[in-house]
Amino acid sequence: MTETQRPLPKPTTLTAGFWEAAARGELVIQRCVGCRRYRHYPQAMCPDCHSMESEWSRVTGRGVIHSYTVAHQAFHPFWSDKVPYVIATVELEDGIRMVDDMIDLDPATVRVGLPVEVYFDAVSDEITLPKFRILEGADRGGE
Ligand SMILES: [Zn+2]
Repeated sequence: MTETQRPLPKPTTLTAGFWEAAARGELVIQRCVGCRRYRHYPQAMCPDCHSMESEWSRVTGRGVIHSYTVAHQAFHPFWSDKVPYVIATVELEDGIRMVDDMIDLDPATVRVGLPVEVYFDAVSDEITLPKFRILEGADRGGE
């Protein structure tokens, strides 16, 4: 059986720093040098103060499930044997929100507010994906 590869991001000049950090096992978020605001996804210009200067700031990768949906339809063959699966918006401690397909999570166990932590999945030679999992010790029943 051949495993279908998931579609992968193609790093650009704007996003290369994010992917390079992920390959090192670090989660970084773009931060405005002018007003110190975090922003994700990366953008060339700060939407607040219009500064073009930004840097990569390492964050803890801890947060909570802010919201989620359960996908019952696959829109790409990679996900066809994974439905139903959770697509979650994670709110990091730093206030930034990121989206993840939590394909290893039982949809029956997900709840808004559950604590999560980042982990890194090296899916190809070039790309390591920051992914999220429920923090050990969180109340999930069982396990
Ligand atoms: Zn700014």
